[in-house]
Amino acid sequence: TPADSPNAIKPINKGAVHRICAGQVILDLTSAVKELVENSLDAGATSIEIALKEYGEEWFRVIDNGSGISPNNFKVLALKHHTSKLSDFPDLQSLTTFGFRGEALSSLCTLGDLTVETRTKNESVATHLTYDHSGLLVDEKKTARQIGTTVTVKKLFSNLPVRSKEFRRNIRKEYGKLISLVNAYALIAKGVRLVCTNTTGKNVKSVVVKTQGSDSLKDNIITVFGMNIFSCLEPVNICISDNCKVDGFLSKPGQGSGRNLGDRQFFFVNGRPVDMPKVSKLVNELYKGANSRQYPIAIMNFTVPRRECDVNVTPNKRKIFFSDESSILVALREALQQIYSPSNACYSVNKVE
Ligand code: ADP
Ligand code: MG
Repeated sequence: TPADSPNAIKPINKGAVHRICAGQVILDLTSAVKELVENSLDAGATSIEIALKEYGEEWFRVIDNGSGISPNNFKVLALKHHTSKLSDFPDLQSLTTFGFRGEALSSLCTLGDLTVETRTKNESVATHLTYDHSGLLVDEKKTARQIGTTVTVKKLFSNLPVRSKEFRRNIRKEYGKLISLVNAYALIAKGVRLVCTNTTGKNVKSVVVKTQGSDSLKDNIITVFGMNIFSCLEPVNICISDNCKVDGFLSKPGQGSGRNLGDRQFFFVNGRPVDMPKVSKLVNELYKGANSRQYPIAIMNFTVPRRECDVNVTPNKRKIFFSDESSILVALREALQQIYSPSNACYSVNKVE
C-alpha cells in the first residue's frame, strides 16, 4: 500500500498524540490540582496554598515554599516525559516521590494556559515563565517571590470542547470532589500547612480548608473534621503480615454516619491517597455486623513494601495493584470482623428498618 493511500498505517502526529494522552492524566479539576499538590510535596514544601477562582473554572493555582525550579530546567519543565524523579525503569521500585511520569505539567499545558513562578535558594530573584500548548517556554521575565513555586492554570479544558462543557456544567460537583481530595492530603501530609481558598464574584475570598501542619493523623482529623467527628472514631492498627500493616481510624460501632458518604472514607498506601473500592466495600460490609443502620467513616493508611505494590496502573495513579491483594483482603476481613463483631453491636443486625 502506498504510504499516502487512505488506509495506510501511519504514525499520528505528535501534537495530536499529546492531546489524546493529556486527557488521561488530567481527567478533571481534581486530578489537575492533585498533580500540582503532589509536585509541591515532592519539592519538600511545608506550606501549600491551593487558590481557586470561581471554583477553578476561571483558574486555579498552587503556591508552595518548596525547593523551587532551577533555571537550567525552565526550557524542559513542561515537556512530555521530562522529570527529575525517574530516569530508568528499575528506579520505579525505590521511588519515594508522588510523581515519576513527567506528564503532569506537559498535560496541563495542552489542556489550559500554564504559567509558573519559581525561585530556588540559589537565586536572589524569581522568574515568571509562560508555556504554550505544546509545552514550549515562550516567555520568561524576572519577578519578586520567596523561595518556592507557584503554578497557575487558566481555562482548563478550553481546547477539549466536550470536556470543557461537562466541566462547566458540573463545576459544583467537581469542586466537591476537589475539597475531598484536599482533605485527603490535609489528613495524611505530616508537617505540611495546607490552605485552600476559593474566590468568587467581586473578590470574595473564602477559606475552604486550613490545617496547621501537624505531625499526627489524630490532630489532622480534628482540624479537618472537628472534635465531634473525631470522638466517634477509634484507632485501628491491623497487622496484615510481617511487613504490611494498616493504621488509621474507623467509626466506633454505634457512631457511624447516616449516609454512605464517599467523602468520609480515605485510603492511603504508603501515604499516597488512592482509590480502594474493594477495601471500602469490605469495611462497609463488616461494619453492618455491628451497626446495620449506618456507614463507617474510614481513614486507613496501608504500609506496604514498595516492591509489593504498583501505582503505575493508570496515568493518574489513583489505582493500585498489590502483588498479593487477596491475602491483604483476607487478613483485613478477619481483623474487621473482630472490631465489628455482633457482640460489639449497638444496633441489632436483624433490626432493619
Ligand atoms: P513528575 O512530577 O512526574 O516529575 P511533572 O510534569 O509533574 O512530572 O513535573 C515535572 C518536573 O518539574 C518535576 O520532575 C520537577 O522537577 C519539576 N516541578 C514541578 N512542580 C514543581 C514544584 N512545585 N516545585 C519544584 N519542582 C517542580
Ligand atoms: Mg508531578
